[in-house]
Amino acid sequence: MKLLKLFKKMKTISDIVKQTQFSDDDIIRLLSVTDSQEAEILRQAAYDRTTKTVGNNVYYRGLIEFSNICTLDCRYCGIRKSNHNVPRYELDKDTIVAAALWAAENHYGSICLQSGERRDPKFIDFVTDILKTIHQKSVSPTLPNGLGITLSLGEQTFEVYKQWAEASGNPMGLRYLLRFETSNPELFDHLHCAPGREKGLERRYEALADLRKAGYQVGSGVMIGIPGQTLEDLCQDIRTFQKLDLDMIGMGPYITSEGGDMLGEGMMEKNALMRLALNMIATTRLVLPDINIAAATALHALEDNGREKGILHGCNVIMPNITPRVVRKNYQLYANKPFIEQEPSDTNLYLQQSIQKTGREVALNVLGSSKHWKNRTGL
Ligand code: SAH
Repeated sequence: MKLLKLFKKMKTISDIVKQTQFSDDDIIRLLSVTDSQEAEILRQAAYDRTTKTVGNNVYYRGLIEFSNICTLDCRYCGIRKSNHNVPRYELDKDTIVAAALWAAENHYGSICLQSGERRDPKFIDFVTDILKTIHQKSVSPTLPNGLGITLSLGEQTFEVYKQWAEASGNPMGLRYLLRFETSNPELFDHLHCAPGREKGLERRYEALADLRKAGYQVGSGVMIGIPGQTLEDLCQDIRTFQKLDLDMIGMGPYITSEGGDMLGEGMMEKNALMRLALNMIATTRLVLPDINIAAATALHALEDNGREKGILHGCNVIMPNITPRVVRKNYQLYANKPFIEQEPSDTNLYLQQSIQKTGREVALNVLGSSKHWKNRTGL
């Protein structure tokens, strides 16, 4: 028994990254890497598994943050309802459609519509109308089925998911992002303040199941480095990704927000947080090789070229912010959010060059759907 234990301890990072099945101990060992040589072994393995499994392409989703009006009070978030220091906005239909068409003209195959969370009929119909128009206007010889659409509009009913799916008109490029934030139920309640009322972890999982039934490619994810979160929690997050059989994952470092309600709890030191976030991305890629993983903008808030580091550690999706500049500063989910001043076109050129430096190619005019989704649906 003692010998067996000793043997287990002797497994190196190089041994672990070659595996295709991972124990919780393996996962925690990968998440806790700090030594630079070990970090490079982990990075290279995740990068290679990405290109081998899902190819060399990086896919764009042009992100349009069309409203910061929110009915919820998530404590970590800078646009939560109780933050009265942020001017609220909602872009009108023409502006949103114009941003979407800009993306199509610039060869993005997909966009992502994100906003604060509202569930009233006016909002639901507004989104439906926008989706229909974007679809109609984005069909072209280069995009014969129109733009791919990812929605990131919080928890809705099954009927609403169905309504939006239909309106988007492109079932092959239909996706929804709904992070569960953490799989630790106590931590989840701590983040959302109101256990069982406003937002509940179980309810969140049900919503993800509804989205799957409604025909979406389903994406979720967590924040990394939340005060009180442990490596065991992050390991359970990865187990939850597996259990939910997700098609896509978006996750990034937790960064304190002036407008949030958690300033007093602080955040991890920047370099350690970056390391942990990259370890989490790389480990997730090794455990779930055929999914899409987005390089979160929050990586860039920590460090210039943070998202490129994400790509070097297993990400294959990037979400350039194409929100009109006038309202961007009011969609500050966390401090130091980047690209507040840049025009979309600047972001475009800059990004393409920096992605190429990672040895990967930006794939234009394609949907870039998750291989996992293709495998599970046969589509
Ligand atoms: N209202 C929608 C989408 C907007 S929030 C929803 O709740 O799904 C998008 C994501 O931003 C959240 O899921 C959360 O993980 C992330 N986020 C919010 N505040 C953050 C912070 N302080 N640091 C890092 N990420 C944050």
